[in-house]
Amino acid sequence: MLQTHAKTIMNQTTGSTRYKLLVVEDEADLQELLRFNLEREGMNITLADTGEAAVDLARQQPFDLILLDLMLPRMDGLEVCRRLKADEATAPVPVIMVTAKGEEADVVIGLELGADDYITKPFSTREMVARVKAVLRRSRFRHDESGDASETIMLGPIEINADRHEAHVDGERLDLTATEFRLLLMMTDRPGRVFTRQQIIERLHGGHTAVTDRSVDVQVVSLRRKLGKHADLIQTVRGVGYRVKD
Ligand code: CA
Repeated sequence: MLQTHAKTIMNQTTGSTRYKLLVVEDEADLQELLRFNLEREGMNITLADTGEAAVDLARQQPFDLILLDLMLPRMDGLEVCRRLKADEATAPVPVIMVTAKGEEADVVIGLELGADDYITKPFSTREMVARVKAVLRRSRFRHDESGDASETIMLGPIEINADRHEAHVDGERLDLTATEFRLLLMMTDRPGRVFTRQQIIERLHGGHTAVTDRSVDVQVVSLRRKLGKHADLIQTVRGVGYRVKD
């Protein structure tokens, strides 16, 4: 029954499709735009036009990424995200939310549910493709490095050694508090990914209720000051949170 809402369109031009994407969108024009531009990148696209169909499909077959419109009839995108992340089988699949302008509150909820990123309508196809590729790259990177305990993260001028609790910028060791170090490590480990203040509090302080959004801002200000001329590596995402430049 739900299956009738979804149709699979295989990429017939190239036999070697690398990534399987589930695109959840109810507007025909946008479906077509997304499908066309992602297939052109050699991706294999499955379309779902309801949230119910999306959850169903994601449980039946493995996808590398789900592009999820938040404004869907009946079951909305946030509910879809909630269900995907609550199911062990679908929880690891990265989700990029597609949202309307001014919906920062929904974006915050979605990120806290476990979505990886979001795109705001109207978006350029170039930006959309770049975001999809970035999330796929990050996701693959995470899989590759599993099991490797001692790791050094390099991002532009930053070098972080997680084991030794050391961070260097332009070769100079940073004098960071334990909290600042963990904040920098957490964000640098997933460049481009937006963290909400609540996620930062949860990961750094175990969700301690005495830690306020304001104190997260204070830590970011302090960390930026210590990064000196590279302060802009930590970007503020208005109404949502913070990220490290991709
Ligand atoms: Ca929609």
